[in-house]
Amino acid sequence: MFGLLKKHLSGSVKKVAEKVLEKEITEDDINGFFAELEIELLQDNVAVEVIDFLKEQMKEDLVGKKLKRTSANEEIKRIFRETLMNILDKEPVDIEGTIKEKRERSEVTCIIFLGFNGSGKTTTIAKIANMLKKDGFSPVLAAADTFRAASIEQLEHHANKLGVDIIKHQYGADPAAVVFDAVKFAKSKHKDVVLVDTAGRMHTDKNLMDELSKIVRVNNPDLKILVIDSLTGNDVVIQAENYDKAVGGIDGMILTKTEINEKGGSLLSAAYSTGKPILFLGTGQEYEDIERFNAEKLVNELLESS
Ligand code: GDP
Repeated sequence: MFGLLKKHLSGSVKKVAEKVLEKEITEDDINGFFAELEIELLQDNVAVEVIDFLKEQMKEDLVGKKLKRTSANEEIKRIFRETLMNILDKEPVDIEGTIKEKRERSEVTCIIFLGFNGSGKTTTIAKIANMLKKDGFSPVLAAADTFRAASIEQLEHHANKLGVDIIKHQYGADPAAVVFDAVKFAKSKHKDVVLVDTAGRMHTDKNLMDELSKIVRVNNPDLKILVIDSLTGNDVVIQAENYDKAVGGIDGMILTKTEINEKGGSLLSAAYSTGKPILFLGTGQEYEDIERFNAEKLVNELLESS
């Protein structure tokens, strides 16, 4: 996972540290350090804004200072670590806690999942349903992607395999009504959480964004989670921002296909542009292939060999 990003970030710490001479560091020195580093990070799908943020942090911490050669590596690594933690280490929403709390009040938690087609949304919903079921919760799936051919059958396939209920309407039906019915069903059957699959056309598609806004307006979900394919390139920033805007602010993100992603910069880009927590990483195609996101663990790994 993220082999190239690890190599480039760790390599950068070393390279920058080697360039630090025992004299006062200037802004120009830092721009110089970054010239080579910038290209590598861009190739790893790290957004320009993230690189600029790293550069600014470094300027704030280093301009006008002298570093001893013996401690340069440690100091540069510290700045990298703090900057990455600043971007990635956000308070996650407590999904299980939210469900429990609402359950005590005999209420149903509604979680909607958003994201571009093919991002892994349906698979991720199935993984979360599996996880919640194992934790003693009773999920109901809502097939609110009434647009894409086969999407309802795909969700139904997972529901059958997992042994959980699914609420669906015909293709072309109003997705907001599907969610409404699913919540009503869950209440009447004493289920505690509804997981909503939504349509995922282009995030630039105004109809889709209006449709998502309507689902949220009508159903007032407890949590809105954006599923992003971690292999997405530069587009990740605009994708995350558009979905975030359409639903009045997402609560968190899940990045999928991380086990086949050598670059990993999309994680930093998405987290930086939305300021929202990454909740889980998708690590394969099986139901068990989902990991709770741990910023400290990832940052340690990214800088491991520096
Ligand atoms: P949706 O269109 O967003 O609902 O996407 P799907 O759930 O249909 O997933 C699209 C493809 O990505 C499928 O082939 C999934 O098996 C695959 N996929 C989803 N999550 C992961 C993951 O974490 N790792 C890998 N390798 N594949 C994944």
